[in-house]
Amino acid sequence: MTQVPLGAENRATEVDRDDGTHEVTPDVAYLRTMIVNVVFYGLASAGDRNWTLIDAGVIGSKALIKSAAAKRFGETARPSAIVMTHGHFDHVGVLEDLASEWDVPVYAHPLEHPYLNGRAAYPSGDPSVGGGLMAALGPLYPTKPVDVSSHLVELPMDGSVPPMPGWRWLHTPGHAPGHISLWREADRTMIVGDAFVTTKQESVYAALTQSPEMHGPPQYFTIDWNAAKASVEKLAALKPNLVVAGHGRAMQGAQMTQALEKLAREFFSVAVPKQGRYVDHPATVQNGEAYQKP
Ligand SMILES: [Zn+2]
Ligand SMILES: [Zn+2]
Repeated sequence: MTQVPLGAENRATEVDRDDGTHEVTPDVAYLRTMIVNVVFYGLASAGDRNWTLIDAGVIGSKALIKSAAAKRFGETARPSAIVMTHGHFDHVGVLEDLASEWDVPVYAHPLEHPYLNGRAAYPSGDPSVGGGLMAALGPLYPTKPVDVSSHLVELPMDGSVPPMPGWRWLHTPGHAPGHISLWREADRTMIVGDAFVTTKQESVYAALTQSPEMHGPPQYFTIDWNAAKASVEKLAALKPNLVVAGHGRAMQGAQMTQALEKLAREFFSVAVPKQGRYVDHPATVQNGEAYQKP
């Protein structure tokens, strides 16, 4: 396996705030909840309904997210929306609680809605490629399907992100059917969810230490590797200067951009497991139901 070079020197310049967030631009800060990042979009002290939460962490992270938000945006400052990159368990842990408590719209790609309105469960993960981490994370799995149907809104098909002016959403499927990434061309900032990640998510050790690596999407849930490759190609072609992924530290600079291009080019040898449930037989999804050719 060819390693895509990425080191501590490629970490984004960030301000570590006393609210626990890592601020990478004046209006983008991320917060790590155990193994996954949530992103706060909005200027510090923005006030009520003047900021956006991207993704909703793992089970048990409500207090952490709420206190960071209160410190960053104001004691009673609710967001104007929650935007979901996708609905895997480690990104929706406290989504129901936050959506109802804050009474906010939850934006997601239509193909992701079945997993967010209680209708469907994702195709089962592939334990043969999950490493020890997925087993270790058992206690964080939700016990029932997430249902935020009364808050759920489709992202507009014109690519705009209503609560985030200046940003576009890009459909980046493969890891999940309705996976999206967020892109701001003005400063080439990209929020990529799990389209690719910046640490080796399959290793318990790397996931905890977040040692930097330009890595394909977490393998366990990825159901279509051809689509995942096309998504990474699409993102690499935009030449981002700063990326915030769902797992790992934010990365920045020309060397990071090159590492991303290398990941896209060598995707099959670097990112795709040698064998696994979905390697030769990708799953296609209709109305949330997965079909896999034998
Ligand atoms: Zn995921
Ligand atoms: Zn994830």
